[in-house]
Amino acid sequence: MIKVNENFLKLKSSYLFSEIAKRVSAFSEKNPDKKIIRLGIGDVTLPLPEVSIRALHMAVDEMGKEETFRGYGPENGYEFLREEIVRVDYRARRICIEEDEIFVSDGAKCDTGNFQELFSKDILVSVQDPVYPVYVDTNVMSGRGGDFKDGRYSEFLYLQSTKENNYLPEIPNKKVDLIYLCFPNNPTGVVASKEYLKAWVEYAKENNSLILFDAAYEAFIRNENIPHSIYEIEGAKEVSVEFRSFSKTAGFTGLRAAYTVVPKECRVFDSQKNKIMLNPLWNRRQSTKFNGLSYPVQRAAAAIYSERGQAEIRSLSDYYLKNAKKIKEVFLEKGYTAVGGEDSPYVWINGGEDSWEIFELLLNKAGVVCTPGVGFGKCGEGHIRLSAFNSRQNVKEALDRISKVLF
Ligand code: PLP
Repeated sequence: MIKVNENFLKLKSSYLFSEIAKRVSAFSEKNPDKKIIRLGIGDVTLPLPEVSIRALHMAVDEMGKEETFRGYGPENGYEFLREEIVRVDYRARRICIEEDEIFVSDGAKCDTGNFQELFSKDILVSVQDPVYPVYVDTNVMSGRGGDFKDGRYSEFLYLQSTKENNYLPEIPNKKVDLIYLCFPNNPTGVVASKEYLKAWVEYAKENNSLILFDAAYEAFIRNENIPHSIYEIEGAKEVSVEFRSFSKTAGFTGLRAAYTVVPKECRVFDSQKNKIMLNPLWNRRQSTKFNGLSYPVQRAAAAIYSERGQAEIRSLSDYYLKNAKKIKEVFLEKGYTAVGGEDSPYVWINGGEDSWEIFELLLNKAGVVCTPGVGFGKCGEGHIRLSAFNSRQNVKEALDRISKVLF
């Protein structure tokens, strides 16, 4: 008899964004003439940088000629891309990362989701609440979640981000094995200072834990005192893995490219408490299950590291940051608590009692799609997330419509 992995049955019935899509399409069917403005799902709207488009065209032409055609590439990415990542994203910030510590992939979603495969089932996992749901669901699939009750899985340690702690969770006073951190945070948009990350690195060393640091929104940081990488913290390489993505940085949500950094010093432990190094383990996992990102896409990704490319991606994030600033200003002016939106494309608004109610209100009365905070965790109740990934004109129109409904 073919038996199911029963952990899958413990997943909440609907993935957040599918539920939103379902409600939005029901609304569209009933109101075919109403223009909907989407400030919900975190998908970008501006086109790819010109440097990437040019690189794509050239790479496609190479693939069409016998002399320059390429078949399977290296599983972990071509040298030309990994060199550029190391040069611009790390060495330029005085962080010493080597090419063989970079693992290029087709998305930070897969990487943050897949990485937990390397760990034993009986570890204690902590996630921020609210949280990007992928960390939670993939650990539930692997049997680490326990049962879902009152909006939470019984076996995780939830690190609460609330108005009281300025949406920055306290370091736990008990031992946790695997810690997911995401800064700039999705969904709150909150950033982490050097001191805060230093405290986490010290905690991970003292407790033999590992930090999975999701820096998918790093490109939005403008405050010079905020670290772009966890490796800006001394000693972090031994205890942290970092995830980066080209999705929000360079508009690659539809093209797909990301990378994961697994430093050679980074360790876990076996049941005899011997150190096991993670870099060869992730390499083994990737070379077994992943066959590399396509050549044209890697050329498109490498193109953003030229001087021109850096200027183009900077102007993309500048554009969205200006939207975010406007969104935040409007809510603050009206007396709401709103965080994020400065070094992040997300604004997290404390909007009342019930987040799905606010979602329905904004959809039905204003035709604006937000993300209900409770979809990211219990602490998200009463909040909504608005994303800046839309045109200036749409954001302005959305804010005008929302003002009429809410204030
Ligand atoms: N990590 C976080 C925190 C995200 O918000 C997202 C996408 O929204 C991702 C990872 C996924 O990135 P990618 O498009 O590279 O899969």
